[in-house]
Amino acid sequence: MAVGILVLDMITDFVYGTLASEGAEKIVPELEELLRAARENEHTIIFCRDSHSNSDPEIHLWGEHAMAGEEGSQVIPELSEYHELDVTKRYYDAFYETDLHKVLKENSIDTVVLTGVSTDICVLHTAAGAFFRGLDVIIVSDCTASLGADRHESALEYMENMYGADIVESKELQKGWKS
Ligand SMILES: [Zn+2]
Repeated sequence: MAVGILVLDMITDFVYGTLASEGAEKIVPELEELLRAARENEHTIIFCRDSHSNSDPEIHLWGEHAMAGEEGSQVIPELSEYHELDVTKRYYDAFYETDLHKVLKENSIDTVVLTGVSTDICVLHTAAGAFFRGLDVIIVSDCTASLGADRHESALEYMENMYGADIVESKELQKGWKS
């Protein structure tokens, strides 16, 4: 079985736009390096990104962001060369009403490596979705970020305790890969 790297919401609105955070911008170089190594090791990379309609429940809570077809929902240019497999989502959980599980099965993936933003929102809900489907979960602590460091840390701890997620640093993860 294989490993799949999920890149969550590394899109214009979360890195530079309406819901931008310093944390999201900070992880870009490390994430770029991780994706380069993942590609060298032939691991599947899947971008999961918000692509909202006005009727989505989240819009009432956060306001308009990452609207379908608009610039805000596009993968940031720094990572776009790795943007081959694409799953659009309308909820925090990238499995909910999307093709993600089908894409994972087609690629024989039984372990998901979660990266992107936000650790305590989409990463956490997607980790739950993976756990409920019997997948192993790895979270890359320096390739994920939240609006605050405390929220990031407590989400990592929660995922470790509740979903048995392995929390690893990017370099440590790459050590286990062949090249
Ligand atoms: Zn959203």
